[in-house]
Amino acid sequence: NSIIRVETLHKSYVNGSNALHVLKGVDLDIRQGEMVSIMGSSGSGKSTLLNIIGILDNYDAGAYYLDGIKIEKMSETRAARFRNKYIGFVFQSFNLISFKNAMENVALPLYYQKVSRKKRNMIALEYLEKLGLREWAHHLPSELSGGQKQRVAIARSLISKPKVILADEPTGALDSVTSEEVMEILKEVNATGISIIIVTHENEIAAQTQRIIRLRDGIIESNEVNHNFSNEV
Ligand code: ADP
Ligand code: ADP
Repeated sequence: NSIIRVETLHKSYVNGSNALHVLKGVDLDIRQGEMVSIMGSSGSGKSTLLNIIGILDNYDAGAYYLDGIKIEKMSETRAARFRNKYIGFVFQSFNLISFKNAMENVALPLYYQKVSRKKRNMIALEYLEKLGLREWAHHLPSELSGGQKQRVAIARSLISKPKVILADEPTGALDSVTSEEVMEILKEVNATGISIIIVTHENEIAAQTQRIIRLRDGIIESNEVNHNFSNEV
């Protein structure tokens, strides 16, 4: 069954009298537990599609179902509740808060869920432990390497037990060895049943996912299953 189902999705950006038609009828079906990549040149609409799936932006026409629930224009409060329940975000630039330590960054989603400080820090430490970062808990992001920062961001994305992780160029700021480590972690996360969508420019990254979707000028150009895929690490 589908965790994400997108039907004939259209999206335009309107600036004054100009409209830019960015998504031109996108269909997408992602099953629970799948690990897929979305590729396409700059401007093809990848971020726009990911923002709609993450309920960070609205669409104009078509339909989007998240876990069978139709996602339509809704208040920011309701959107935030859906995001908290279903979606973890991982970004190229990590998006960590610079003046908070690793533990506090990981704990942040639980702050918004009104979990007490003591409890959320305890849970954050468990996630840091899982990601091999227990001894870095009290360090600021500026004291961590790129790979460590991305592991903190992955821990933060996992702490609210999402069904899906949306990763926009998660290895874009990392060297190839560190990228490989981050991909191994994402595969381990995927092996626990969490669906993962990775937007990437890099063939080596896409080649490690179960399905490669190519966007071109707002349309899905190809959607191919990767028979070599394995999330066993
Ligand atoms: P990609 O992620 O594939 O590079 P995007 O979805 O970011 O593509 O952008 C697709 C097109 O939409 C680009 O031409 C971009 O400049 C434009 N675009 C993206 N976001 C906005 C916005 N908020 N307002 C206006 N144009 C936008
Ligand atoms: P990414 O690196 O993820 O593709 P971008 O740097 O393209 O993201 O875009 C960052 C933000 O700026 C997004 O929220 C996007 O919607 C917005 N944006 C992108 N292009 C434009 C544009 N031409 N006009 C206005 N906003 C834009």
